[in-house]
Amino acid sequence: MKAPAFDYCKPQSLAQALEVLQTQGDAAQVLAGGQSLLAMMNLRLGAASLLVDITGLDELKTVTEQADHLRIGALVTHSQLLAHPLVAKHVPLLHQAVPNVAHLAIRNRGTLGGSLALADPAAEYPAVALACEAVMVLQGPQGERRVKARDFFQGLYATARQAHELLVAVEWPKLKDGERVGFDELSRRRGDYAMVGVAARLHMAAAKVTHAQVALFSVADTPLLVPHVMQALQGQALNPQSIRAAQEALAQDLPAKGDLQSSPATKLHLAKVLLGRVLSRMGETS
Ligand SMILES: Cc1cc2nc3c(=O)[nH]c(=O)nc-3n(C[C@H](O)[C@H](O)[C@H](O)COP(=O)(O)OP(=O)(O)OC[C@H]3O[C@@H](n4cnc5c(N)ncnc54)[C@H](O)[C@@H]3O)c2cc1C
Repeated sequence: MKAPAFDYCKPQSLAQALEVLQTQGDAAQVLAGGQSLLAMMNLRLGAASLLVDITGLDELKTVTEQADHLRIGALVTHSQLLAHPLVAKHVPLLHQAVPNVAHLAIRNRGTLGGSLALADPAAEYPAVALACEAVMVLQGPQGERRVKARDFFQGLYATARQAHELLVAVEWPKLKDGERVGFDELSRRRGDYAMVGVAARLHMAAAKVTHAQVALFSVADTPLLVPHVMQALQGQALNPQSIRAAQEALAQDLPAKGDLQSSPATKLHLAKVLLGRVLSRMGETS
């Protein structure tokens, strides 16, 4: 199938891109890597009368180190994220997640910003952003505003971004002393979207958890922080008992929701198994 007819423009500056979005409103769609948008348009699952190609905006392709965070531009591709030494050093959870995103050809074109702006509930980065307490930097005609990841993902493919705004960058807190991260997902074949996934960041002091951020994906309409699990881990050493308690707590956090691949009971079972694996590995690094 082919996409319905659309117009196309390629702004040469951020100001120009924002002006087009401001004047076109909902009729315009931002085009980044095109790895989701063009497939959706070709399948007629989405439509736009104007595509605003932002790939000429070099200022959205940079990674800059600040005192306490990395600012990663929205147009940094999945492959560039994987290869970037600052990402591996300061945001290892993101680095661990990248190889699970699609296949190499898609990772070479798809972008960080495209994945987060799309907010597919089965995508890796939205859950990683929750676990890392990342901050989305949105730019509109009035300037930049920052939205915490936990406020950004609002529903199925729905975010706090307004139609006239661009996601220009994401601020990722740098890994701190005493923090450990863990990531894993289950998918039918490597490169497929996950049936369930876990992203976790724990701060440990004196071998006990002092702060837990655990997010799951592909279990609900949005990536999901799991507060009962986080509470169960708080103040605990990572051992088989505390991990079992965290797994049991998961039932209180997960919506009773299945999908085309799994019943709600299967989904919960898979999530428990995966959470146990991730936490056990994080315990082994003590
Ligand atoms: C076969 C296949 C398998 C895949 N598997 C996975 C997977 O396992 N995990 C996964 O996470 N993804 C997967 N993807 C999606 C892929 O990761 C995409 O790269 C990503 O979802 C979108 O990035 P993009 O840069 O291509 O965005 P685009 O397709 O260009 O845009 C996606 C959406 O985001 C909007 N958008 C893009 N950039 C911005 C911005 N800066 N500001 C505001 N809005 C913006 C667009 O308007 C559009 O609505 C898969 C894709 C394919 C085709």
